[in-house]
Amino acid sequence: MFLFTVLFTSCKDTKSKNESSSEKAMNTSENPLLVESTLPYFAPDFSKITNDHFKPALDEGIALQEKAIQEIANTTAEATFDNTILALEKSGEVLERVSNIFYGLTGANTNDMLQAIQEEMAPKFAALQDAIFLNDKLFQRVKRLQETKDSLGLEAEAVKLIENYFEQFEKAGANLSPEDKEVLKGYNAKLAALENQFNKTLLEANNNGALVFSDKAALAGLSEAQLKSLENTEGEGWKIPLLNTTQQPLLQSLENRATREKLFKAAFYRTDGSAQDTKGIITELAELRAKKGALLGFPNYAAWSLQGTMAEIPDNVFKMFNGLIPAATAKAKNEEAEIQQMVKTKGEDFTLEAWDWNHYAEMVRIAKYDLDENQIKPYFETKTVLEKGVFYAAKMLYGITFKERVDIPTYHDDVLVYELFEENGEALGLFYADYFARPSKRGGAWMSNFVTQSKLYDKKPVIYNVCNYPKPAEGEPALLTYDEVETMFHEFGHALHGFFADQQYPSLSGTAVARDFVEFPSQFNENWALYPEILKNYAVHYKTGEQIPQALLDKIKKSGTFNQGYSLTENLAASNLDMQWHVIAADTKIADANVFEKEALAKTKLDVVSAVPPRYRSTYFAHIFGGGYAAGYYSYLWTEMLHHDAYNWFENNGGLTRANGQRFREMVLSRGNTLDLEQMYKDWRGSDPTIEPMLKARGLE
Ligand SMILES: [Zn+2]
Repeated sequence: MFLFTVLFTSCKDTKSKNESSSEKAMNTSENPLLVESTLPYFAPDFSKITNDHFKPALDEGIALQEKAIQEIANTTAEATFDNTILALEKSGEVLERVSNIFYGLTGANTNDMLQAIQEEMAPKFAALQDAIFLNDKLFQRVKRLQETKDSLGLEAEAVKLIENYFEQFEKAGANLSPEDKEVLKGYNAKLAALENQFNKTLLEANNNGALVFSDKAALAGLSEAQLKSLENTEGEGWKIPLLNTTQQPLLQSLENRATREKLFKAAFYRTDGSAQDTKGIITELAELRAKKGALLGFPNYAAWSLQGTMAEIPDNVFKMFNGLIPAATAKAKNEEAEIQQMVKTKGEDFTLEAWDWNHYAEMVRIAKYDLDENQIKPYFETKTVLEKGVFYAAKMLYGITFKERVDIPTYHDDVLVYELFEENGEALGLFYADYFARPSKRGGAWMSNFVTQSKLYDKKPVIYNVCNYPKPAEGEPALLTYDEVETMFHEFGHALHGFFADQQYPSLSGTAVARDFVEFPSQFNENWALYPEILKNYAVHYKTGEQIPQALLDKIKKSGTFNQGYSLTENLAASNLDMQWHVIAADTKIADANVFEKEALAKTKLDVVSAVPPRYRSTYFAHIFGGGYAAGYYSYLWTEMLHHDAYNWFENNGGLTRANGQRFREMVLSRGNTLDLEQMYKDWRGSDPTIEPMLKARGLE
């Protein structure tokens, strides 16, 4: 079964270019993507792979899987685990191998040709998904096995594999009557069209919302470098583009209050009362999604969408929100008072508004913490952080060791390769670290696999982390900010989840878990960045070898709780809007999206600090109306709750010890998607997760 996941910390889309790729006829034997690599761990042999190899290999992989699916569906023999589920699992072996390499490169080192292939392949992958999940003969076989799974004498993981396939088919509507399937197809087509229309309209609104200033005085507070980057290439003056969030980064620097108000309002009302109004689109989307949820047998869209997640049902998500809201808004109120005081100190006399917040908050931050990035960076040299921080933490917790491998071919000279070993010396896998930004790489940071662990194919993981740290000039040290250090720990947390995978079947292996769980191991791993024993080992001055001074450390720690009332409240407001839009019943008629939004915030008391608006308003909430995060934006807060709760367990049980690491590895990190996530967590933790450790970490107790 083809499966491909990339775990993004954040991501921006790369521009696709419309150039056709050259199609070269190629024999299987000549195409290094169509044969198993002879390198250690079946690592992709980048010394042999060229752009020309991808299209024929992807086409071949799709054709092989289609053929295999037909054969499984058309078998006349009674459905068995082997002839149906296992065959399905194996049907995408070649495609998965090729895709893993292909998408690895389109993210980290793309070019025009790869982008053109990517565009060309998208509809083919969609068609392949349909060919599998809308194939009724295939579904009937899967269904028979689902019904008899407990009497087949199978191992627990094989039973889970049956369930997993069945749920995917069912979620896609395979269990509906032929008439209802037609209705669903109609809904899906309409939903896709509306999402597309939303994205297009929002893009126009964002572009039209850009503000042009001809008076330099209006932009006081911006640096010369900032002004230079804002020069209006289409005319006079300076142009400030709108980002797709409520708050705009430049609001922090802009000194002119009228300019701030203008920029904020341009962002906040970007779609209101213009040709780019999205209100109609989002109400139609929400109403139609509610109908889809009902058709598939659920009280609302969120209930359908949360199947297979750790939260399981919308109520559990609201329970978490309700626990966080009072503390978040109370802290935001305190911050508001503190910032209002700063306004006064600066000799101003006005009531703090949303457009003033970041400008004066920055002054509070400087006054309170006096933290300068340039003082910190000499203590965070990239390779030292990796080897003596990230790797060292993994060694202390899990016993694993690392050895650099310069003999494994990579796709770019900046990529480092390490081999990982168990405590007893046994081989564990290969790790690629690709840290520096370059034009061929998309923005953000992410983790994925070139090779997925599975006992089925006797494969150990080959995993990569990609980041976008600025590359230093020749001969200069590569120094990181503390945020960048955290990102390195984060991405390696995903990597550990992949390395410790111990599954029979690749589609249940490692990081193939629900969205509200997958960021847990990565966020959890960030906790070790500031752990004294780890820090001592890696935070040393790149020139003098001196350890980072305690005073600097204290500042880093203390500043971590700065502005957390604001940031949690704006996140909760957006997460809550997402859920409210997706728990409406199928017969709901929404008259006005703005009224709906106002009421949704009022009834959850998320409107009590008026200077703290939602991170996204509904009308430009692209995650939920233009992308795949409908009823899923809560996942960020959910995994944050988990990782603080988990770290709290470590703190109460002796902290960083091999025994604690081993227990966490055995009960959580090695389990992939083979267990009920909620039960798995509870078994390890001894109780359900609570929000208190998260509140404490954010300084909100
Ligand atoms: Zn992540």
